[in-house]
Amino acid sequence: MVVQTWAFVPTKVNHPWVNVEVRAEQGAILRTSGVPYSAALASLARIRSALQGLGVSWPGRALTLNIHPACTAEELPFVDVALSLALLAVQGKINPTTLSKVASTGMLSLEGNLRWPGPPATQASSVTSHHGQVPDGIALWLGPECSRVSVHFDQEGRASHLAHLLANVTDWLAQASPSLVFLTSRHMAASPSPGWTDLQGEGKAKAWLCIAAKHRWPVMMAGPPGVGKSSLARAASHLLGTDRPWLAPHPTGGAAGLLGSWRKGQPLPGAWVLADSGTLFLDEFPEWPKPARESLRHIMETGVLDLHRADGSARWQSNAWVLAAMNLCPCGQHERGCSCTASERTNYRRRISAPLLERFPVHLDVNGSDLSECTRTWEECLAWMEEIDAERALAWTDQATTALTLILTQGLTSRRLQAHLRKLAEGQARWCNRLEVLDEDVRRGYDVMWMNRSGWLNPSSPPLLDAHDEAYF
Ligand SMILES: [Zn+2]
Repeated sequence: MVVQTWAFVPTKVNHPWVNVEVRAEQGAILRTSGVPYSAALASLARIRSALQGLGVSWPGRALTLNIHPACTAEELPFVDVALSLALLAVQGKINPTTLSKVASTGMLSLEGNLRWPGPPATQASSVTSHHGQVPDGIALWLGPECSRVSVHFDQEGRASHLAHLLANVTDWLAQASPSLVFLTSRHMAASPSPGWTDLQGEGKAKAWLCIAAKHRWPVMMAGPPGVGKSSLARAASHLLGTDRPWLAPHPTGGAAGLLGSWRKGQPLPGAWVLADSGTLFLDEFPEWPKPARESLRHIMETGVLDLHRADGSARWQSNAWVLAAMNLCPCGQHERGCSCTASERTNYRRRISAPLLERFPVHLDVNGSDLSECTRTWEECLAWMEEIDAERALAWTDQATTALTLILTQGLTSRRLQAHLRKLAEGQARWCNRLEVLDEDVRRGYDVMWMNRSGWLNPSSPPLLDAHDEAYF
């Protein structure tokens, strides 16, 4: 099988658009044409590590790489992303026909992050200067950290990790207009509010994301596709700091990609470990294999991951901020014309077990209907993150204590959930810069625990969300 795609190598001033071919066949050797053998080995070593991070195995076949016009060892890092996409096609993860219309650029880190191998300023200028020379047939252009932003795509279309490209490249290409599309990740330096202010409305979700980021509370976002769950998560990840890791592994990576694995006598950490001090975003959460999801319960609680395999054991620690996203039913349409039956919806919800849901204190309903803006600007959110002491003890008013008691006795029996509600109410008070918890803080806290209420996982529960009931107030 032969897979063909394109790479953009800006240092080749006269021929920046480079054709990349990979042939896979029976055997075990590597042949190269148009590229130094040692440079190809170095590039494949990076790609191999990045693919392992996605849980994608290396093609156990003879590979022939052909790059035309020929690239030097210094130029080959710009071809990493193209080569990795070609190898994903060889492994059946991407349709090879799709790739022939894609040009990409950039180097991969061992964890699969997309990097620009040259000085940052060179990317925008080189892309701009070569815009007019794009070969016929390229419909989609992928690259990291470009300051030039697509006019065709919203922020969903920016990519910073190989998993993101893998998950989306087919969809992006289907949406691409006949003209060339620039698809880039947003560079922090070029954007003081990374995606946050571009997202209209969702004021409640943004406020809770700030509060959750401050305390590193796991968040579950639910809503139909395309309303900006991923964009919100990506933007919120920057609340932790500009240089923190962001990992968004794909469900096909399974438990190995999420938790780690054991390869050739070496333990390989998974996304949860690699996201230490940063953000782990788990999109399509019900699509993850059940063992991977359920393993999260323990490691989210303890911050420690013990991997036991036949080859040996490994112990890792991580304080990754876990954000997950899901649809509320198999068709994903929710209020806007759901076609699922009640039992289909019930079965879908039950993929996420009650003990697992309990590990997510904050449930956000992101369905595009919240038109309110966050009460703080992006800069004010960052300032609040810095200024507020999450450890400082707060005083509870009598009314707040009464409201809490009412809910605990009637609605929340699990001790873990009871502790969550106290924390959420206090988080809300801190968000309002108060040292006193009011009954309205308790109500707002309870408002984001809807998946954990009785009925959510129950077959007799209403088919669609009526989560924001005020039954206790
Ligand atoms: Zn549905």
